Amino acid sequence: MNILHSVADMHRFADDVRRSGRRIGFVPTLGFLHDGHESLMHIAKQHADVLVVSIFVNPTQFGPGEDFKTYPRDFERDSSIIETVGADCLYYPDVSEMYPAGYQTTVSVRDVTRNLCGFSRPTHFDGVSTVVAKLFNAVKPHCAVFGQKDFQQLVVIKRMVRDLNMDIDIIGAPIVREADGIAMSSRNKNLAPEECAAARSLSRALDAVCSSMQAGERSARALIELARGIISAETLGRIDYIKVCDTETLQDVELLEREAVMAIAVFFEKARLIDNTVLCVEG
Ligand code: AMP
Repeated sequence: MNILHSVADMHRFADDVRRSGRRIGFVPTLGFLHDGHESLMHIAKQHADVLVVSIFVNPTQFGPGEDFKTYPRDFERDSSIIETVGADCLYYPDVSEMYPAGYQTTVSVRDVTRNLCGFSRPTHFDGVSTVVAKLFNAVKPHCAVFGQKDFQQLVVIKRMVRDLNMDIDIIGAPIVREADGIAMSSRNKNLAPEECAAARSLSRALDAVCSSMQAGERSARALIELARGIISAETLGRIDYIKVCDTETLQDVELLEREAVMAIAVFFEKARLIDNTVLCVEG
């Protein structure tokens, strides 16, 4: 497996692959990998001949007071996971390579970044869209895989790719969960043991919401209150938001008519967890 640090080396690698007529599949990550990341890599391999994975803890997507410094990192373990999955290239730039002195460009996606995480993390998605655009330009992928766990991020990236005419297929991958239902996340490591029980309430709430919807409930407000009751019964988490939104515009919806997403964010002492489920109304 190639481990590349500079954008020039990454370009050379990508150009060689493209010249040989092979497809590049790309999985960008912040590292500290788990089975959720691995599932994205397997999906990318099904859609491409050559797999590139990046690890870059991107400072510009962390707000002031957020966990950039304490974000978990373990390059040795990550690179051995990526190699075992059979990736062809690990792109591992450092901050000065991505944002050299004089750097001054931002990619900003407007409307779909306003709701949900946009309220409590107002600068986050500019950081994400900018770094993903830069990574796309470095890696030159034909397709890239993003997890539905970060539902808003997936919508933002799809919007950016459409709006900027990027010739890249964006593939959404299902949420991978622990056996107890908690959505896998690198940040779960920062949960105190007694917070894990409270963290399980997110997926329990989403399951209860799905059952209620299947039993005929169509009011977003009723489904939100159902989820709020289950999560707030656990005292250790502080709810940031529970919302039901259109899956494309991410605007709040009041009545479930077709397809919507319930998205949840909860603050714990040292981690803010997000989770979601897509609610499909039959017919
Ligand atoms: P991160 O390293 O947290 O930025 O995540 C890198 C990619 O993995 C993103 O596309 C995430 O949506 C995806 N991802 C993270 N956790 C999960 C999960 N539990 N299931 C599926 N995809 C995930």
